[in-house]
Amino acid sequence: MRVTEEKMAGSKRPPSDKKRQWHHLEAAEVMELLQVSAYDGLSDKEVEQRKEQYGRNIMTPKKQQSAFVRFMLQFHQPLIYILLAATVVTIFLEEYIDAIVIFAVVFINAIIGYVQESKALQAIDALAKSMTPRAQVIRNGVKQNIDAKELVPGDIVLIQSGDKFPADVRLVQQRDMKVDESALTGESVSVEKNAAPVGADTVLGDRFSMGFSSTMVTYGHGKGVVVATGDQTEVGKIQKSIAGAQDLDTPLTIKIKEFSQLLLWVILALSAIVFAIGLLRGQGAGETFMVAVALAVGAIPEGLPVAVTIMLALGVSKMAKRRAIIRKLVAVETLGSTNVICSDKTGTLTENQMTVQRIAAGDRLYTVTGIGYRPEGEIMEGKQQVELASNTALEHCLKAGILCNDSFIKEKDGLCTIEGDPTEGALEVAARKAGFDRKLLEQEQPREDAIPFESEYQYMATLHGGAQPVIYLKGSVEAVLDRCDKALQPDGQLSEVNWATVDEQVAKMASKGLRVLAFAMAGAPAGMAGIGHDDTSSGLIYIGLQGMIDPPRQEAVEAVKLCQQAGIDVKMITGDHAITAAAIAEQVGLNGRRENGRLVSITGKELQEITDEELEGIAENTSVFARVSPDQKLRLVKALQARDKIVAMTGDGVNDAPALKQANIGIAMGITGTDVAKDAADMVLTDDNFSSIEGAVEEGRSVFDNLTKFIVWTLPTNLGEGLVILAAVILGSQLPVQPVQILWINMTTAVLLGLTLAFERKEPGIMDRPPRPSGEAILTRDLIMRTLLVGSLLLIASFSLFLYELEQGTTIAEAQTVATTVFIVLEAFYLLSCRSLVRPLRDIGYFSNMWVFYGIAAMFFFQALFIYTPAMNTLFHSSPLDGMQLLRIFGAGLILVIIVSVEKHLRYGSLVKKEKQR
Ligand code: ADP
Ligand code: MG
Repeated sequence: MRVTEEKMAGSKRPPSDKKRQWHHLEAAEVMELLQVSAYDGLSDKEVEQRKEQYGRNIMTPKKQQSAFVRFMLQFHQPLIYILLAATVVTIFLEEYIDAIVIFAVVFINAIIGYVQESKALQAIDALAKSMTPRAQVIRNGVKQNIDAKELVPGDIVLIQSGDKFPADVRLVQQRDMKVDESALTGESVSVEKNAAPVGADTVLGDRFSMGFSSTMVTYGHGKGVVVATGDQTEVGKIQKSIAGAQDLDTPLTIKIKEFSQLLLWVILALSAIVFAIGLLRGQGAGETFMVAVALAVGAIPEGLPVAVTIMLALGVSKMAKRRAIIRKLVAVETLGSTNVICSDKTGTLTENQMTVQRIAAGDRLYTVTGIGYRPEGEIMEGKQQVELASNTALEHCLKAGILCNDSFIKEKDGLCTIEGDPTEGALEVAARKAGFDRKLLEQEQPREDAIPFESEYQYMATLHGGAQPVIYLKGSVEAVLDRCDKALQPDGQLSEVNWATVDEQVAKMASKGLRVLAFAMAGAPAGMAGIGHDDTSSGLIYIGLQGMIDPPRQEAVEAVKLCQQAGIDVKMITGDHAITAAAIAEQVGLNGRRENGRLVSITGKELQEITDEELEGIAENTSVFARVSPDQKLRLVKALQARDKIVAMTGDGVNDAPALKQANIGIAMGITGTDVAKDAADMVLTDDNFSSIEGAVEEGRSVFDNLTKFIVWTLPTNLGEGLVILAAVILGSQLPVQPVQILWINMTTAVLLGLTLAFERKEPGIMDRPPRPSGEAILTRDLIMRTLLVGSLLLIASFSLFLYELEQGTTIAEAQTVATTVFIVLEAFYLLSCRSLVRPLRDIGYFSNMWVFYGIAAMFFFQALFIYTPAMNTLFHSSPLDGMQLLRIFGAGLILVIIVSVEKHLRYGSLVKKEKQR
């Protein structure tokens, strides 16, 4: 609610520093106070001074959970409680060394956990920050695009829908501006802005004359003056913009945590039973307790959830290298099971390198020569170069292209680049080829006002003053022709629009894949100062068409093919014309429903007539959707999801946000995307390129593969250790491995051996297999069988060698060292086999992942210390072994690898062979 002046007068609040009540001052006053002109902005010198005075436009990051708290949380795990209890018990048993070792392990474990978790968090945070916001400012009288961090109070900024306010801004001018201020006020309904001052005491949410840092412009555009930056902004004051700690939970890690939890209770119950049996047998309580602890420590796969998080985080950095920035960890996982990708056309599947090639005006057809943004080429009619004066419609059509245009061509070092939208850049180039001078035109017919292009309306219009005020309008053929009732002829006369000819010309251009824009104009009454959608809704004069080519990206063509081989449907969702869309879809190789040999495309208009139920089937088997509006994108995502599809959907505009949120993977464009779209997305493409999506999917699959390998490698250790202890209890024998030894095994192998699997290269044929059904268990029945097999082999090897040693009359310490070493060595051998779960090593390259070998070497080095150094012998009750003992252990390792290889071959051999033949 707006607080009125009268109410204010009666308010008890003391009048605060008037200078700072920016919302309450007239815009002109604000600019005077900040010593800036709305037209020229600040000068470089002033900017430098203010930068010194106010600092950079950055917020001091909010204190996250303190390092100490995060470290202490590492101890908040059931297993750690057990170990702490074990420490206490061992102290009572006067086994001080054990007490120290166990406590040390707990401590080191906490440090490792802390370091790894921080690294994962940092990696993700760094990526999130790597997307630096930009701001449009006017400085030295020139419009420029700068890093938002460089803004200073007094800067004049230009804001349009889709932007986040880069700082706190007092609006000077605005048109239909609506802002989502939920980041600041929690209020999700957009606020309508107004440049008029509001009462001094107005609450934040009602300060309509202000735009606050971090809030999103959902509609309209405007101009404002920066009044506060960095920590001085409203958001800075409440420290809200730095979104809290990243959420590291994903469905997968949650599932694994649940699984560990369940296992935990089972094993604790088992440990209790073991404890009870021991007591009944009349063994000492302390000793029996330690057996129960050994069982719990060995059998609970405590490190699993953290390892999975780390592997997912590693996936994030791998994807970043392929130009896909992950904003939510869960995306890494979902990408692996994506089975539909809905992609934009322009700029994603195509180059977005527009060149006008055809012009139709006054019923005549022209071709334009030359390629790229260099304004070199001619406008030809047949083989003849064209005289502009011969066709008034052509003249206006080209003029409209240059005047009704928010982008421009920059020439630097002989290179022509475009600042803004390539579609508009192409229009400027075409007009310049005909000899128009942009500067001159803009002086003769200065722009008074504009309706900027928005996908939703599909057109842009500008109002120009000068001797003969005129409105120019350009946009999609449908949007423009709907507004016209006359057409301009070459001789300057008006006639009826020849609909049939126009349709034919459009179809001819579009079927070649050209993007077609239509142009219109209208005389404006002198003194008209502004235009709105109402002023352009009808009665315009049609002046012509321009068709531009936008070649498909070669990488996209290949990426589409790879996706199709991988069982992923690729669909094109575009705002462009149906015929253009279908032609480009053909060129990039989409497949889908065809009629008469042509790809069927569905238009937004047709979608309107279709019920949600009907849409499900249509969405599934159609691959081209043209003239689609953002809300229809949302419907499409929902329809596909209703058919159990895992949908990746691209988007760039403000209105795409709901569809991006709804999609399983919302993908925003890094270059052309708005801040709003990026905020809603799970992933951002830094190069807007379709092939980066394919790359991310590939990495997603690979991460998932490696995760599975890690799990299949790690679980047998826990199983084997648990079984060894259980067997000892049941047989009433001595423990083959003591609790501290189990701790040793678990701690060293997970880090030195297991995590090296994260660096395993992509399996051959990773994009030749269908997507993983989402929700499918990670361990298939086959892999569960392998886990059981290897777990039993570990049991047999360690237990039998342990008993053999005792039989030979060696000491218990030596026998236990043998049993412990069996676990270490067999895990190292088994690691090699886990490098691929289905293929022989030969197929993936013996040395394709050197980390595995470095890990094994390090592991053996540490194990040598464990066996041969007196200090370790004291700490872990180990004892030196002789060559024969080691040989037997390595023999067992070899046998394990052979058995697993045979099992692998029997189970998957024929499958791998078939794959190779393909
Ligand atoms: P796309 O999916 O190709 O990016 P858009 O939503 O950007 O589609 O554009 C839809 C249609 O609007 C285009 O086919 C074109 O006719 C028209 N259009 C695109 N850009 C502009 C612009 N800057 N000004 C006017 N019309 C435009
Ligand atoms: Mg576009």
